Amino acid sequence: VMYAKEITKTYGDKTVLHGVSAQVLEGQVLTLVGPSGSGKTTLLRTFNRLEEPTSGEILLDSKPLGKRSRSDGGYGDDVQQLRLDQQRIGFVFQSFNLFPHMSAAENVWHAPVRVKRENKAEAVGRAHELLGRVGLADQADQKPATLSGGQQQRVAIARALAMRPRLLLFDEPTSALDPEMTSEVLRTIQGLAEEGVTMVIVTHEMAFARRVSDRVVVMEAGRILEEGTAEQIFSHPEHERTRRFLSSLE
Ligand code: ATP
Repeated sequence: VMYAKEITKTYGDKTVLHGVSAQVLEGQVLTLVGPSGSGKTTLLRTFNRLEEPTSGEILLDSKPLGKRSRSDGGYGDDVQQLRLDQQRIGFVFQSFNLFPHMSAAENVWHAPVRVKRENKAEAVGRAHELLGRVGLADQADQKPATLSGGQQQRVAIARALAMRPRLLLFDEPTSALDPEMTSEVLRTIQGLAEEGVTMVIVTHEMAFARRVSDRVVVMEAGRILEEGTAEQIFSHPEHERTRRFLSSLE
């Protein structure tokens, strides 16, 4: 579905990603783990060009993100194409980022109707269906401020799904939540994984990463330290530094 090729990111004279490559296959879950400051969030944000890579390329279904094929065979950067491609990649933030003046349902149907010009009645129906899927059928008419953090995050997940994304990116989706709310959000994400939604997840929740991941990338200081299946990384890590990172969390 997505292939990130040799992504480099520098801020001024500070390089935070040193040519990192990653891919996620259809129906799979890739998690990015690693110590604080290792570049996980920055890497995730380059996957939909929320953060512009300094060099490297993001391919979505084998096509460079935000580039249009030109008649001469080359690729040109194209803002309109970038917006369309970005609509195909859902993003769930740490801080939910719901519209405060809209109900939960309206938060979910707003973009499909306003951005994708979907039929409103259908989009509203689908919003209620998606809220049901994340366990919030009864909260559809509530404003975000009247919902718990965990409920708000589940609305944000329903909102991302409403755009029918090819790929869903999660940036530490539970880091702003207390433990009880964390587990309800992680259960929701795990449900999506079981339904075959393709996802990339930055998380510090290692037990969750182990359960949900098809592939795990361990990052350190802007590089990939180790990559493998959940079993390989958590049960048989190759690198001493991976072992040290995992044991530091126990
Ligand atoms: P955490 O787990 O703490 O969220 P992370 O692995 O996601 O960490 P990033 O947030 O990607 O790490 O940050 C990687 C490095 O890039 C850090 O050293 C951070 O200070 C730096 N960085 C991130 N954004 C910027 C920015 N806008 N300007 C300058 N430096 C930045």
